[in-house]
Amino acid sequence: MQNALNQSIISLDANSFKDPKSHPLQLSFILQSTLNLYELMKRFHQELKNLVNYQSFNYHHAESKNKFEVGKLQYYQARYQLKIENTSLGEIVLSKNIAFTQEEIHTLENILVFLLMPLRNALAYEHAIRLSMIDPLTHLCNRQAFDMTLQREIEFAKRHQNNLSLLIVDIDFFKQINDTYGHQAGDLVLVEFAERLRQIHRQSDMIFRYGGEEFTLILAHTEHKGAVQVAERICQKTAEIPFIIKQRNVTITVSIGVSTHQGAESNQKLFSRADIALYTAKAAGRNQVKCSN
Ligand code: GH3
Ligand code: MG
Ligand code: MG
Repeated sequence: MQNALNQSIISLDANSFKDPKSHPLQLSFILQSTLNLYELMKRFHQELKNLVNYQSFNYHHAESKNKFEVGKLQYYQARYQLKIENTSLGEIVLSKNIAFTQEEIHTLENILVFLLMPLRNALAYEHAIRLSMIDPLTHLCNRQAFDMTLQREIEFAKRHQNNLSLLIVDIDFFKQINDTYGHQAGDLVLVEFAERLRQIHRQSDMIFRYGGEEFTLILAHTEHKGAVQVAERICQKTAEIPFIIKQRNVTITVSIGVSTHQGAESNQKLFSRADIALYTAKAAGRNQVKCSN
């Protein structure tokens, strides 16, 4: 019986281009014409399936948590660690229910070489985009990420008729903290507060530093009552546990506006309702949650 697993490392070196048959310029062109990782894998799979017979295609890059999967994993597998020098570009696994022929393996390995450079570029591009969406002080996602995520989550919620709620959290009298303890101490409060938000709401990719001392949380699958509970918890926990600023215990409070998505409402409308609720919470004396219905 033939070995079920063919396993090797695909890496780019000076010998990679010696075989003239392994020079499908067209494939190279197709792969180089996108920086979008998902699109790249889709195109590669489309081209590859014309050349090699397989039932499932699976790409996984652990560091960036990128995945692309087509079909169900079968018994016979060809598994490739993709690398350029010492940088891992992830793993591709092809599988089927009959053994791969030597010719198929040969074709596969020749073709995979052409994926390496475009894949490295797509991963680097994705990494750069991701960095541009992160607030450097708190390491939370920033406003740009919030706008994109809110749009995406509202579309998803509408399509699947799921609940979705939004919180806008604003630290009370933050200017006074800066004025009393200095801007650097203020920065540390923002870092600590971001960490507390992460502790309360584990889905950290849905917590955003909207700007200054304002934070937003998108609560997918959460109806009005659940959102108010999360907001109350943030409010209470913030006031309950003092922040240590320059060896002093300082009580800090927050005001929170809550809105829950209704029908065909736009993201601007949803945001504006939470913002009005926040303003109401401030006007009512701060350290509290207000909702917009
Ligand atoms: P309110 O209760 O009405 O929200 O009062 P506030 O003082 O929190 O609000 P205001 O908008 O008057 O002031 C916000 C302050 O946040 C002013 C600004 O200097 C400060 N701030 C914004 N971004 C940062 C930052 O990155 N670091 C620090 N240390 N301070 C910041
Ligand atoms: Mg404030
Ligand atoms: Mg503010």
